[in-house]
Amino acid sequence: MHPLLERAKKVMPGGVSSPVRAFLAVGGEPPIVAKARGAEITDVDGKVYTDLVGSWGPMILGHSHPAVVEAIARAAYEGLSFGATCEREVMLAEAVLCRFHWADKVRFVSTGTEAVMSAVRLARGATGRSRIVKFEACYHGHVDSLLVKGGSGLATLGIPSSAGIPPALAELTEVLPLDDEKAADALFAEKGKEIACVIIEPLPANSGLLVQRRSFLEHLRKLTREHGALLIFDEVISGLRVAMGGMTEITGIEPDIVTLGKIVGGGMPVGAYLAKDALMTQVAPLGPVYQAGTLSGNPVAMAAGLATLKLLEDKQVYRELDARGAMLQRGFERAMERYDIVGSVARMGSILWLSLQKGPPPRAWHQVDMSGAKLYGKIHRHAMHNGLWMAPSAYEVAFVSLAHDAEHIERASQAFERALEAVRKES
Ligand SMILES: *Cc1c(COP(=O)(O)O)cnc(C)c1O
Repeated sequence: MHPLLERAKKVMPGGVSSPVRAFLAVGGEPPIVAKARGAEITDVDGKVYTDLVGSWGPMILGHSHPAVVEAIARAAYEGLSFGATCEREVMLAEAVLCRFHWADKVRFVSTGTEAVMSAVRLARGATGRSRIVKFEACYHGHVDSLLVKGGSGLATLGIPSSAGIPPALAELTEVLPLDDEKAADALFAEKGKEIACVIIEPLPANSGLLVQRRSFLEHLRKLTREHGALLIFDEVISGLRVAMGGMTEITGIEPDIVTLGKIVGGGMPVGAYLAKDALMTQVAPLGPVYQAGTLSGNPVAMAAGLATLKLLEDKQVYRELDARGAMLQRGFERAMERYDIVGSVARMGSILWLSLQKGPPPRAWHQVDMSGAKLYGKIHRHAMHNGLWMAPSAYEVAFVSLAHDAEHIERASQAFERALEAVRKES
């Protein structure tokens, strides 16, 4: 074991600050990172990898983009934290709202988890109802009431829901299958009057990439309106990733609250929730729903978000990301054909997922064939060995960034192909 990993394990549970980083599901040692730049990540021993994780989503421009780093440095010289409103915060709020133009106000927090937790509190406060509805396999951060059947971290470790969540709280969370209008209808017919909100990742990307039918999301919009419940689109991954205005823009469906995270902070800790005035006037100091944060609207983090959003302004950027995603998809598919690996690549723009099962990629968790995970573990070990940093879980997606040029994608495809070759030789 690497001496640094050994030290890490002595002082941090599993040697990590977030579970999936420990590589338990795929085996092998997680490298300790020294630095990352552009599309590449370098470990403490100097080994260079082509990175397909992108810090789990935020690094859409690639690592340490010079414009973002410069913006951070300039902001840092002017103060690290004020505990008061700053100009960059106003500017980032304006920039966010002009991308989600149906919303009137935004509140900044420090993580996606916090954004979701606050959005749910707002929904409960505004409706005076307690029950919430989520979908199987959707991850919304480690919020108590949402850690029920939630996403890859739990699926990878075989935990249906976290310990430490009082049953009284879990009972208020209803879990529905994705892609199933009838199940949603049945739940609303029975408990519609008690439901404060339905929360969904409009592009579920935390348990594979389970692309939903637009008509399903449309149905949830209709159902929530009919029953006086709110609809929350958790766009912590998809917002600013698949289009400037996320899935809200792509589907044309207007939710009541959108949560953001990851890209909005450009690699610094920022989350946000946004809604129309009717809801946002419920939030303190204007209304009775309390939510606060010592480091919220942090000037350095705001600077990183601003610089990132500025570089994403050009619509061409998303076409470019889509083209690069398509290129990687072709590379992966070619390799899979060549080495006779059963599966397909699900993709939306620059988000890709290796679905290691027969037929088209699944749309709901119960359609996911869990037996692919063992094969994925083998592929992962050989990919890492060949200098390709893939997500250490069969159910996590890959992200391509603007720093991934044709050469990086070719290198990634070849490393993937060599990994499949090695897997075939083993079996
Ligand atoms: C990552 C993620 C979160 C949690 O964000 P953190 O910043 O990790 O707390 C919430 N919702 C979705 C959809 C996410 O992908």
